[in-house]
Amino acid sequence: MTTAACRGCGLADLEVVLDLGDMPLVNRLLTESMLDKPEPRYPLALAFCPNCCLVQITETVAPEVLFRDYAYFSSVSDAMVEHVGRLVRDLVPARSLHARSLVVELASNDGYLLQHYVAAGVPVLGIDPARNVAAAATARGIPTLPEFFGTAIAARLRREGKLADIIHANNVLAHVPELEDFVEGISMLLKPSGILVVETPYVRDLVDRVEFDTIYHEHVFYYSLSALDRVFRRHGLEILGVNRIPIHGGSLRVFVGHRGSGNATPAVEELLREEAAIGMCTLGYFSGFAARVNDLKDELVADLAAMKAAGTTIAAYGAAAKGTVLLNAFGIGSETIDYVVDRSPHKQGLFLPGVKLPIRPDDDLLLLQPDVCLLLAWNFAEEIFAQQAPYLAAGGRFLIPSAATRSV
Ligand SMILES: [Zn+2]
Repeated sequence: MTTAACRGCGLADLEVVLDLGDMPLVNRLLTESMLDKPEPRYPLALAFCPNCCLVQITETVAPEVLFRDYAYFSSVSDAMVEHVGRLVRDLVPARSLHARSLVVELASNDGYLLQHYVAAGVPVLGIDPARNVAAAATARGIPTLPEFFGTAIAARLRREGKLADIIHANNVLAHVPELEDFVEGISMLLKPSGILVVETPYVRDLVDRVEFDTIYHEHVFYYSLSALDRVFRRHGLEILGVNRIPIHGGSLRVFVGHRGSGNATPAVEELLREEAAIGMCTLGYFSGFAARVNDLKDELVADLAAMKAAGTTIAAYGAAAKGTVLLNAFGIGSETIDYVVDRSPHKQGLFLPGVKLPIRPDDDLLLLQPDVCLLLAWNFAEEIFAQQAPYLAAGGRFLIPSAATRSV
């Protein structure tokens, strides 16, 4: 379903700032038997709302289609587990959590975050619509409801006397087309003194570093602090703190409470002023973005063609969504790249959507020693370089798409 209206404020006319054409569902990896069948494709265009400043894609793919069998298990990344572990170790004493507190995580995945609270003796509840990951989490001692969060679930939990001291919403606010119902549900579930901790990719980093490959159908929204501020205010919430963090190519970590429940740190007003100064709530901010994406394409396609002409063997690393976006949007497929390696056993043996490249175990880099490996999972560059030290030592090298513009 394509919408021209803003999902936040309802303004009828959104301004398209980047059109990536028709794209397959990037997390729907293919089995061998699916290779001959037509794949569903949906328009992928990024648009800006000049009224409420929300950046969003124009297409809504039903969440039932996208998130019921999610292939991405968060625990697969050591860096991600450590990232959230540090946050939890800070929050447990800071919020005086104990055995009668409750921490809820929305889109809790396999429990990679909540496990740190369980270890600290704090009761938890995960909510995640992907039945396979919710079952895996529950099996390892992290109770997880396999459902989509919204006001209906929040009302049910309230009736059961469950209110949250902390709600975590990491990398989920971008994913929910029914944003208003989701945030209202948070407002209902959060104790009067409770705190919501949100992490979501920062649209400013996306634009600055040309991270267009983080745009796909699962990601409906791309936030500035100015847009978030308006969203939370509509539901009686206010932003109390903000940090810029490097995760996922540059994200915002935002602390939110009920209106009047605390004093905002100076960082909130500072960042809002900064965003106003660079015009992030104006269409002009996005002028030139599409041209920079095109420059990146021209540069990468030319580099790979020159390598191929010289007889270089090329593989790729990272069977994740962003790699699928980049390869499909730039038209780079099996004529250039032999295979993609990935560390996740859940992906090995499958094929990337659209370009249909086979996915092999990451150990195959050392085994097969391709001359060059295109790093699609650039957000985990340091971790991957460390894991692949033997491949590098044996003469292999990584190519990062436009390393100059993406300081990873
Ligand atoms: Zn709007």
